[in-house]
Formats: sequence, structure tokens, C-alpha cells
Amino acid sequence: MQIEFFGAARTVTGSQYVVTVNGKRILLECGLFQGRREEAWKRNRNFPFDPATIDVLILSHAHIDHSGNLPNLVRQGFKGTIYATDATVDLCKVMLKDSAHLQEMDIFHVNKIRAVKGEPPFKPIYTLADVEECLGHFSACYYDKSFEVVPGVICTFRDAGHILGSAGVQLEIKENGKSTRFGFSGDIGRSNMPLTHDPNQMGNLDTLVMETTYGDRHHDPYGETEEVLARLVTEIAKNGGRMLIPAFSVGRTQLIVYILHKLFNENRIPDIPIFVDSPMANQTTEIFTKHLDELDRETTRLFLENHENPFRFGRLKYVETVNESKTINAMPYPHIIISASGMLEGGRVLHHLVECVSDRKTMLLFVGYCAEHTLGRKLIDGDKKVKIFGQEYDVKCRIEKIDAFSAHADRHELLQYVNTCPPERLKQIFLVHGEIEGMESFRNALRSKGYQNVIIPQDGERYVIE
Ligand SMILES: [Zn+2]
Repeated sequence: MQIEFFGAARTVTGSQYVVTVNGKRILLECGLFQGRREEAWKRNRNFPFDPATIDVLILSHAHIDHSGNLPNLVRQGFKGTIYATDATVDLCKVMLKDSAHLQEMDIFHVNKIRAVKGEPPFKPIYTLADVEECLGHFSACYYDKSFEVVPGVICTFRDAGHILGSAGVQLEIKENGKSTRFGFSGDIGRSNMPLTHDPNQMGNLDTLVMETTYGDRHHDPYGETEEVLARLVTEIAKNGGRMLIPAFSVGRTQLIVYILHKLFNENRIPDIPIFVDSPMANQTTEIFTKHLDELDRETTRLFLENHENPFRFGRLKYVETVNESKTINAMPYPHIIISASGMLEGGRVLHHLVECVSDRKTMLLFVGYCAEHTLGRKLIDGDKKVKIFGQEYDVKCRIEKIDAFSAHADRHELLQYVNTCPPERLKQIFLVHGEIEGMESFRNALRSKGYQNVIIPQDGERYVIE
């Protein structure tokens, strides 16, 4: 067999890996590359291989950096089946449509500028119609139930504990009379987090391709996190203020709602209005509700056994229309608004931020990672003036940050992930989906545990696995 690495090689977006076995080509992931607009546009438009030569696709989870270029793959000639867990298929329906909408909007603005310069218009990388076509290729699978993807390759999805539906991909490969057990980790979640199960390791692998997003970092322990959130909400209620929580619509919003519900049931926070203001989060929450039986044991114990939906309670309201969204700004304090996007790069949250960034009674609470150069990062870094929709505002609101909600394993948890694979058997580990410093540091950690053959592939590199 051989494996080629395209995208998410020494970087964190655009995951695409081609595994060739018995002459058949399996593509693992088909993510969108995210970065500078022109580079991203070029990379996403042009595949480094001919999509028509790919026989089958296996998708670990629905995040756009893993799934976001699937409609383009189909548009450019891919004819095969896309295998994913049932929850991933449901999430992709929402997320790929949203992605197509963003692509169409983006190209609309680009073409306006091109028209002024007298240049011909560009077409979006894909449209809603391409998404519909692509969704017809999906085949929904169960965790831990094996199936044949191409002759000689049996696939099993193992719960990765990263987001709803996320999976590690285990392949039992028979080629030229030899058997190999191959694992692709997808994104690896964390143990003891609410909602998600602990990651299910794939034991006794011969070859592993694994993510290393936080290969050199340790997260704050989750232990006291809910208490910290309870304290901040109580302060807001007591001071008659507003809490604005920018949160990614898929996963993070549901996690925050779940914890607030738990705190409310346990009388650890006062009864104040809570608004979830993101159309995408509303649709995603519906999917979480459809898949309640796939959530962790704590969810069952705290909510499902009492016939409660963890994502609906008392004064929590899901805001639908733009008009409704505008009326929240006139609502009396105290209240909480959870809205996307998590890095303050777009979405309804910006309209709320305009209203309250200069208001001393507002607390802006970050619950997720903000990349460099984003508005979220500027506020976390303490900038005193920020631009929103081209206008400058003084930052007077209080800014707080909780780091412990990460959905990615840290260095310690990544090391634990490989411990069911003894070094005598695991002949090679390929590190992907990380920044080079973190990967090198993690490679050293693996070597000190006895894993000698740890490779950090470059974009476009091909390896033959004996
Ligand atoms: Zn992910």
C-alpha cells in the first residue's frame, strides 16, 4: 500500500490523504484549506490529484477543514461513495450548505471588485446545487461495525470523542497475501469532557496517521471549569449586566448550553434569560437532539433518565429571525447571549458586539481558541480600540476567557492515545494536522516512549508501506 499526504501536512487545515491498496484509491478526508484568500482559493479550486481517479472516500468528522471540499470533489468527477457515521452525515448536510452559502457570498464580493477593474467574474468553488449532488454520495455508518470499502480493505469507525459523530478510521488491509492494521486518528477528543465519549483508541496498529494540533501544549484541567462559569454568570446576574459568549455553532454552543442547563438544575446559577442567536447553531442543536443516544453517560444520567432534553430549559431561547435578533439588544439586563462566530470573524455576534463593546456592564466571555489576526484574538490580547464593520470602538467591556473547553487532545492525551499500540508492533507513525514546532516536540516525546519511526510528511509526499 502507499499513502500520499495533501493538505494538513505541517499545517492544520485542508486534510486530504490518498491511500492506495490493490490498485484502488481511498481518499481520507476532503477538507477545505483555510488561510490567505488567494492561496486558499487556488488550493481549494485545484485538487493535487484527479478526483475521477478516487474510488471511495472515508470521512472522520464533519468539521469543514476535513469535509469542506467534498462538493467540489464531486463536481470535478468523483463518482464513489462517501462513508461517514450517521451523525457526521447529518452535520454535513447543514455545514456544507452553510459553506456553499459563504463561498457564494465571498465570490460575489470578489466579483464586484473585478467588475470595477474590468476583469471577468470568478465562479464560486461550489454552489448549493453541488452540495445537493454531493449529499447523494454519502453512506451513513455505525461505530464499531465493520464494512468493506474496496476489495481487501475492511473499515471500522471508532468514536474519537472530538465532536458529535467524530471517528477514528481503522482499516484492516489485505494486499499481496499480507495483512496490515492501519489507523487514521481524525481529530482526537479528550477524556472526561461533557457530551462526548472518551476517545476510543485503536489497538495493535501497524501504521498510524495521527493529528498533533496540541502536540506541545497542555490544556487547563476541566475540573473547576463549570464552577468558574457559574461564578461569572452569578456576578453578571448580581451586577445587572450582559454576558456575551462568542461560540462556534457546532459543538461549542451545545456544550455551553448543556453546562448552563446543568448549573441551572443544580441551582448554581440564577434564573436569567439566555439567548442562543445563530441560525446555524439552531440547526446543529436539532441534530444533537436527534442523536441524544450517542452522547455520553453523564448526559444520560443528568438529563435523559429524567426525560429532559439537555439543550432546552426554562428561560433559554433559540433566536430565529434577524428581527428577533435585533430585539435582544433592547432587552433589559441581566441576560446572556451565545452567538457565532467564535473568533468574532463574522455572524450575528458582531451586531451584538457593536452594541456592547464599549459598555462597562458587559462581560465578553471567550470559550474557544481565537486564531492570530482575528478580532477575537485582538480583544483577548487587550487591544483598547477595535474596528467592527469598518468603524472604530473603544473597548470598555470586561473580557474573560475559559481555556478548558478545547475539543482537541493535548500532548499528554495524545501520548495516551498511542499507548494501546506497542512500539514493537507500531512500525510507523505519521504526524499530521499540526504546526511544525509542536509536531517536532511531539515526535521527540514519542521517540522517548520507544516509537522510533515517526515521520512528519511534507505536502505532496508519498510513502510506500511494506
Ligand atoms: Zn475537528
